[in-house]
Parts: sequence; structure tokens; C-alpha cells
Amino acid sequence: MLWAIDGTRTFRSPPRPEPSPVRTAAVYCSDGTITEHVDAFLHDGLKLPRCDRVMLPGGPARLAGHAEETLRHDDIVAELRFLIDAHELERVILIQHEGCAYYRERLRVDEQEMPANQRTDLMRAASALRDATNVAAIDAYVARPDGDAMIFDAVAIQ
Ligand SMILES: [Zn+2]
Repeated sequence: MLWAIDGTRTFRSPPRPEPSPVRTAAVYCSDGTITEHVDAFLHDGLKLPRCDRVMLPGGPARLAGHAEETLRHDDIVAELRFLIDAHELERVILIQHEGCAYYRERLRVDEQEMPANQRTDLMRAASALRDATNVAAIDAYVARPDGDAMIFDAVAIQ
């Protein structure tokens, strides 16, 4: 066990500077192939290394009210509202990604129709958040592969 401390299964994270409040939550897909890219986008692109995160398969699709949804829409919104209230969040960032398995497998969306469906869902998710919370700003992005990297394009949701 390389990370054992004193023979125990204990890991101590490297020290970090005192966190400053970021007042932002990001909502994106659980897909492990995108998480490091999303981290880089949040850390280096948006300068939000410590924003709250809500990760579920499909990301913002889970706030869009699909009939195929397996969890109660109100419950998913309530989890985000909890963070918004408890941490006094002012901004929510919604991130979709191309080729999302949730769209392909759960929603049965063709690859060609996926971008349009995802943009519609970003607008639905933003609308649901505006209705259910008092969060001041909602921003949306779609991530697409670019070789071994990913490009994050801003999407207008007004
Ligand atoms: Zn996905």
C-alpha cells in the first residue's frame, strides 16, 4: 500500500491554501473519461477550482424532466437547491458532453441528434433552476473531444 501512513490505510491529501468561497456549482456527467478535462476547465478556464459539483450520468439532462428519468425531477432539483442555499451559491454551470452514453442508452438519442437534444436540455435545465431557486447566473457549455483534449464551447441559454 503505497499511500499507507504508519501502516494504516490512511491517506493525507497535500496541503491546500485556505479555500475562498467560489459561490458556484457545476453540474456535469459522471463519465470518468471527461472528469479530468472538466476539472481543467473549471480550474484553469473558469478559475473555479473549488466550485461545488453535482455529477450524475447525463449531467444537466437530469434536470430537463425527461420521461425516461429514473429519479424524481423534484428530488434532483432539491439536491442542487440544497447546495445553492447552504453555500449561498450565486452561479450554476451546466456542462454537457458529446457522445454522452446517457443520451445514447437511456434516452435513445441518435448521435446526429444528440447536439440539438443537449442544447434543448441545457435550456430546460436552466429554466427548471430559475423556477426552483434564486440563483443569479446560469451558464452552459458543451464539451467535445479534440484529440486527447476537450474543447468547451459556451452555449446561449437565454
Ligand atoms: Zn455522459
